[in-house]
Amino acid sequence: TRTPVNVTVTGAAGQIGYALLFRIASGQLLGADVPVRLRLLEIPQGLKAAEGTAMELDDCAFPLLRGIDITDDPNIAFDGANVALLVGARPRTKGMERGDLLEANGGIFKPQGKAINDHAADDIKVLVVGNPANTNALIAQAAAPDVPAERFTAMTRLDHNRALSQLAAKTGVPVSEIKRLTIWGNHSATQYPDVFHAEIAGKNAAEVIDDQSWLADTFIPTVAKRGAAIIEARGASSAASAANAAIDHIHTWVNGTAEGDWTSMGIPSDGSYGVAEGLISSFPVTCKDGKYEIVQGLDINEFSRTRIDASVKELEEEREAVRGLGLI
Ligand code: NDP
Repeated sequence: TRTPVNVTVTGAAGQIGYALLFRIASGQLLGADVPVRLRLLEIPQGLKAAEGTAMELDDCAFPLLRGIDITDDPNIAFDGANVALLVGARPRTKGMERGDLLEANGGIFKPQGKAINDHAADDIKVLVVGNPANTNALIAQAAAPDVPAERFTAMTRLDHNRALSQLAAKTGVPVSEIKRLTIWGNHSATQYPDVFHAEIAGKNAAEVIDDQSWLADTFIPTVAKRGAAIIEARGASSAASAANAAIDHIHTWVNGTAEGDWTSMGIPSDGSYGVAEGLISSFPVTCKDGKYEIVQGLDINEFSRTRIDASVKELEEEREAVRGLGLI
């Protein structure tokens, strides 16, 4: 029998946590033959609700679930962690300046990074979901100097999936026939969904669509503003689709991308495509054997260049701001 994989989830009692934990426990994160032990981290006010969720997890009698620990101590939550999903974050509240938001999140992600550094397993993989995700990932990474930097990633898979679905709706082709789509930059309104290298049923996506104004004025803003549209419609933020994307991100990282396809992940830049080194920015990546690599050699046209640069500039400003606050 296999040793269980330790999966730590922060903000476990939140909306996304509720949509995420049952799928992890059922085997959808790592595979139907991989037993898991869940570690739930919450702030003290969230512990009771996390206990309620744990009771429901028990009541599912998931054959792969080998234990649940609930704690408000990051040192316990990340002890031996193989996978960490950092979901809990400080949301922006009315009247809050960006500096205040970054500082509040620094207070969360810095100690979590340190706890990962000191206690996680050697093969730890970290996905940051809580916003501002890219910069929160940078803060955690900076606090974990003994962990290889590339293990800290930020989620742009939901943006990727949203873009796939918009393209499928536009062209009437199933999502399974759409490949090589890329989200570049920050998980924010400046993100850039790039279809110029994408394929729809084997043909170049930009040529199939053949409508630059649809791309610029409908597709890109629809993908970037989808979160707000869901809040407007549902009266609550996207939780199940965010949880689904977190599952996809880790599943692909661990199990690999399909031959001939790639995915989008927020990862530390090595300077590829003119993205300043060290920024956690979204790139096209292939995954194999638990490692990812940036897809190289893509031609970036003028339309894409302007948009990638704008999103990267925003990431640079966020990095400067957290540097100024002494968080990295
Ligand atoms: P959610 O579970 O809905 O969201 C959690 C985080 O995910 C937010 O930062 C949210 O950002 C982010 N997020 C990223 N992508 C998306 C997306 N596509 N749609 C929606 N959210 C997205 O928040 P809840 O308030 O329900 O739950 C948060 C929980 O975290 C609470 O239980 C709280 O107690 C806990 N918490 C735990 C901490 C810890 O473990 N140390 C620290 C802080 C909080 P955005 O705000 O931009 O929507």
